[in-house]
Amino acid sequence: MTRKIPMVDLSEQTDRLWPELEKAVHDVLRSGRFILGPNVEAFEREAAAFLGTRYAIGVGSGTDALVLGLRALGIGPGDEVIVPSFTFFATAEAVSLIGAKPVFADIEPTTYCLEPDSVAKAIGLRTRAIVPVHLFGHPAEMDAIADLAQRRGLAVLEDAAQAFGAVYRGRKIGGLGNAAAFSFFPSKNLGAFGEAGLIATDDEALADSVRSLRAHGSRQRYHHTEIGYNARLDEIQAALLRVKLPHVAVWNDARRRVAASYDEALSGVAGIRTPRIAPGCTHVFHQYTLRVPAEKRAGIQKALDSHGVSTQVYYPIPNHALPMYAPDAPSLPETDAAAREVLSLPIYPELSDGDVRQIAHLLRESLAR
Ligand SMILES: *Cc1c(COP(=O)(O)O)cnc(C)c1O
Repeated sequence: MTRKIPMVDLSEQTDRLWPELEKAVHDVLRSGRFILGPNVEAFEREAAAFLGTRYAIGVGSGTDALVLGLRALGIGPGDEVIVPSFTFFATAEAVSLIGAKPVFADIEPTTYCLEPDSVAKAIGLRTRAIVPVHLFGHPAEMDAIADLAQRRGLAVLEDAAQAFGAVYRGRKIGGLGNAAAFSFFPSKNLGAFGEAGLIATDDEALADSVRSLRAHGSRQRYHHTEIGYNARLDEIQAALLRVKLPHVAVWNDARRRVAASYDEALSGVAGIRTPRIAPGCTHVFHQYTLRVPAEKRAGIQKALDSHGVSTQVYYPIPNHALPMYAPDAPSLPETDAAAREVLSLPIYPELSDGDVRQIAHLLRESLAR
């Protein structure tokens, strides 16, 4: 292939929305209001309406959303929080940042999300919360997790950073636990033009606590009542997100079409497994992730790269194998196997059928070698 295909290419949607994006930034610059102004308020209302939650609070990043969510749930030093190891580092990092201890549970090997029995085994006397991650855009097994949390008196904070718009048994993710953390890192399904995040919740007290924590622990300027953070969503990002939000459902549909094209083009190829969607779940394909033979993965990546096609391994080193967590990490065989075998292919709403067929062709060829 002569043209390069990156993992994600945002240029087409940016081009198409250019006049609106430009006007949004222009209006904020002219308004002189840059922090917690009308765009943040409007975006919070619009995001809450989309997600079907009572409250949505804009914060500085997905990591901030996790940290503030955990803090607002009252979690802190001495507490344990159950998280998957097979996720982006921020999930566990947020738990450590507030002085609590992440306890790693294993994944269900076809959806890469927390496996409820493994979560149950990880619950101890100090466990306070579970953070299921809707990894790659696939909803975690929330009914079993909510059931477990209820029986054991635990809070649930969804890490929904990769799954804006995903649906679990008729309900949008983001409203399935006590609170949910979203990221608008530029490459996420709904991406800002810099750092941005959001906490969604139906709990009024929790929403109020997050609003205080994001503004230095104050509800009223200079009346600080707790140690908080500077973790606010800014007006420019909120204004830009408001331009993109009305399109995200269509973009998620387009991602599903790309995924279906990959499924078709790769059906019957020996040695690989295409993504499975659990019954009742609507995947939003933040990533299209295959299982390939571990010993062939590097070769496949090299072969595709030589034709200008990017691929990525999300995630090559599970969190429990990282130096700060390895010393007392449990054994997580499904997580370790996934880390050896996963391979993500380019996916974005505008990726053409022709490109998908070409990528699938290159993959077949490289597997046959
Ligand atoms: C991106 C991501 C985060 C962190 O979001 P940022 O906005 O980059 O801080 C957290 N968890 C998961 C699963 C992510 O993919």
